Amino acid sequence: MTSDSSAPQTTAESHGQDKAGVDFIRTRIMQDMASGRYGGRLHTRFPPEPNGYLHLGHAKSICLNFGVASEFGGLCNLRFDDTNPAKEETEYVDAIREDVRWLGGQWDDRQFHASDYFAHFYACAEKLITLGKAYVDDLSADQIREYRGTLTEPGRESPWRNRSVEENLDLFRRMRAGEFADGERVLRAKIDMAAPNLVMRDPTLYRIRHAAHHRTGTDWCIYPMYDYAHCLSDSLEGITHSLCTLEFVNNRELYDWILDTLDLYHPQQIEFARLNVTHTVLSKRKLIQLVSEGHVSGWDDPRLPTLSGLRRRGVPPEALHQFCRRIGLARADSVVEYALLEFCIREYLNAHAPRVMAVLDPLKVVIENYPEGQMEEFDMPYHPEDPAYGSRTVPFARELYIERDDFRLDPPKKYHRLSPGAEVRLRYAYLVTCREAVTDASGRVTELRCVYDPESRGGQSPDGRKVKGTIHWVSAAHALPADIRLYGQLFAAENPSASQNFLDCLNPASLTLASGLLEPALASLEPGKCVQFERLGYFCKDKDSSAERAVFNRTVTLRDTWAKMEKNAGGQ
Ligand code: ATP
Ligand code: MG
Repeated sequence: MTSDSSAPQTTAESHGQDKAGVDFIRTRIMQDMASGRYGGRLHTRFPPEPNGYLHLGHAKSICLNFGVASEFGGLCNLRFDDTNPAKEETEYVDAIREDVRWLGGQWDDRQFHASDYFAHFYACAEKLITLGKAYVDDLSADQIREYRGTLTEPGRESPWRNRSVEENLDLFRRMRAGEFADGERVLRAKIDMAAPNLVMRDPTLYRIRHAAHHRTGTDWCIYPMYDYAHCLSDSLEGITHSLCTLEFVNNRELYDWILDTLDLYHPQQIEFARLNVTHTVLSKRKLIQLVSEGHVSGWDDPRLPTLSGLRRRGVPPEALHQFCRRIGLARADSVVEYALLEFCIREYLNAHAPRVMAVLDPLKVVIENYPEGQMEEFDMPYHPEDPAYGSRTVPFARELYIERDDFRLDPPKKYHRLSPGAEVRLRYAYLVTCREAVTDASGRVTELRCVYDPESRGGQSPDGRKVKGTIHWVSAAHALPADIRLYGQLFAAENPSASQNFLDCLNPASLTLASGLLEPALASLEPGKCVQFERLGYFCKDKDSSAERAVFNRTVTLRDTWAKMEKNAGGQ
């Protein structure tokens, strides 16, 4: 990770953890449960706004909210924060449900919508007016901003601030009845225009929007502001700990003010740092732009940091859980290296992905002394360290393909793969020696003529002679053709958001296509499943696969860049 401080961010303290490795939020929850606050209950919520697909940042919030609930025997609600009529769609609601479920979040019958509480929000607003704690303001949005003042200057009171309760009630009811145009009036809390915290300078609670809502239709033409709706929703659902990101620190005072003024049940808001990751963007606005302008193939493009993109890329949910555990919870913003995410993916897949053989840049090999028309099968384990994964048979014949990169006409020193006269082991099959490389007019190698040692079945050396190199292969006649999508970073720059236009940072080489040949057992692999192509990386079978032609997405290479970075940074 990198951050403003020069020390590597790997200590427990930098993750907001105490000496026992427990983060500050869990510490707080344990204290509250032990002291009997909230009657020993724990109830959290994950509150996405359905105006885009979920991304890695949301994964952090999901792992936290659903995670603590399950660790401490509590509950976590899924709440759609759908108070904004213009931008929300049911497509997003469905996608969000699928993503949360995929990450293991269980909300049972507790899927809620802030829009279900519109009548309650409205009643609370009338109560605030009656208490003399809210008023209808006729100032325009620009004027309200101007009157607000700055950090160094107090704000000015609106000329409408001292309307009577009766007048306020009448105007607010007429706002609700649709008598006024958008922007003509707002309802504001009456707090303190000189408050040091700008959020407390008579914040807007309701605005007029003559717009249809995806759930409530045209029932309402006034809509509550986020700060107002959020605390009331938390309170109504009996949330105990309302966990949110740091940018809401200043809003906590308003959260508390609203619930205290209305004398309602009061959850505790606690803030933690947002997740930022290098080489990507985690802003919904930017993600929507990437999708709508066609810079990627859709919300589930495997290059995107969306949960549906990561899933299609083959990232297992367990790897995201591990990632969230490793980054921990901090009270200060920092940026996490994309390489750490890849490390977590690799670590999980190394333990859990079956091993198979695939050739991505095929070079033909003819075994001259292997009888034409003959075929034999080798039984190969799916996982070298875990027999529970079983095995499959792989056909071997006279014509094979190997990786072009595993042959050199003019090999450097200590090159243990194939070159004229050299002997290698074909993984689990035989030892072969290259007799001749056939080239075309341009000097490009088109075929290797080899001989095999029939005594070396299974790849064993029959007389103890040393054969250092082992390479993978597929049988030409049996291979399954495949389109392979090799993904790199979507953005070349480490921090695309720092650029004036983040689109200028798009990596033109973020997707390379290859035509590969796979061992035939992969024909029956289910889409969505991940395997290791030996020596090449982890790949996930894509839903675009057909019976004749498979499509695989590269999830991650085998190269661990994270361990190297940690070492250079002097970390663990
Ligand atoms: P918007 O700008 O649309 O409000 P948002 O990122 O806040 O976007 P929400 O749908 O409101 O998106 O987020 C739902 C929950 O996920 C919130 O509780 C929010 O704090 C959390 N969340 C969103 N982005 C991140 C992030 N990068 N890191 C950690 N938590 C996040
Ligand atoms: Mg939000």
